[in-house]
Amino acid sequence: MRGFFRDSISTRLRADLPIPKPLPGEILLKVIAAGICDTDIQLARGYMNFQGILGHEFVALDPSGNRVTAEINNACQNCEACRKGLANHCPNRSVLGILKHDGAMADWVAVPECNLHRIPDSIDDRSAVFIEPLAAAFQILEQVDISPTDSIAVLGDGKLGILCARTLLPHANEVRLIGKHSEKLARAGEGIETSTLEEQAHSWRRYDVVVDATGSTTGLEAALGLVQPRGTVVLKTTVASQYAIDLARIVIDEIRVVGSRCGPFSKAIAALASKTIEVASLIEAEFPFDEADQAFAAAGRKGVLKILLKMS
Ligand SMILES: [Zn+2]
Ligand SMILES: [Zn+2]
Repeated sequence: MRGFFRDSISTRLRADLPIPKPLPGEILLKVIAAGICDTDIQLARGYMNFQGILGHEFVALDPSGNRVTAEINNACQNCEACRKGLANHCPNRSVLGILKHDGAMADWVAVPECNLHRIPDSIDDRSAVFIEPLAAAFQILEQVDISPTDSIAVLGDGKLGILCARTLLPHANEVRLIGKHSEKLARAGEGIETSTLEEQAHSWRRYDVVVDATGSTTGLEAALGLVQPRGTVVLKTTVASQYAIDLARIVIDEIRVVGSRCGPFSKAIAALASKTIEVASLIEAEFPFDEADQAFAAAGRKGVLKILLKMS
């Protein structure tokens, strides 16, 4: 079968890969489409030393022909974390297309059956690819009590920043997306205020909640500049590099810093099914899977939004 494969030398489309053999509890799916996210671009460059097939945002068919997607943390279901209901933090987990498990940029993918979610007919294939990153945006609402009077700033005008802004908008008084690229800010969506960081210089300590989705080590410092005393900073950025930052402001102004990663698929699916959140406008381009190498080159360019791969 075909698969977009990372080995120690390169990352490229191969056509000589075996169809995956499902582990106990896993099910084999026929992939329809997959999305390229910034994590994939990092992995393709050697981040986490991942070797195998990439891909963790996808829509596929199960053996009965139902459209499905899957959560990406493959937990052991046995350890203390799993027993406490913290399967996403299972120390024995593999992660689809990221850690010790082949991913979905392939003709076929095997995933744990317990991770599957059916996709309602009202969500088309293109939007379904966003369920995983949208769930990550919904995780903020699981972790932080947002009040209808809150002012929220989201730092970072990439795909995740825009998804976070659209997810938080119905829950807050004001959501402002802060970025560097006017053409990306223009795609934020209805009701979302936008500005550049320079324009926010006067907004020092104005926001109840600041989300860092910059993907850069500079995001936390900027977030600490914008958040109110006793406010909350949500960190969505994972970077391989180290931070060099003065943490005194966190102590003096009693700021809460919340790390945030994977989230509830069911809420993302409900929001897409009811059209509460729109995502298709974030698609930059779709490539047939045979052009996966070109698709990755396109996805790596600055300012590009979501690139989709179509397997069938
Ligand atoms: Zn992703
Ligand atoms: Zn476990």
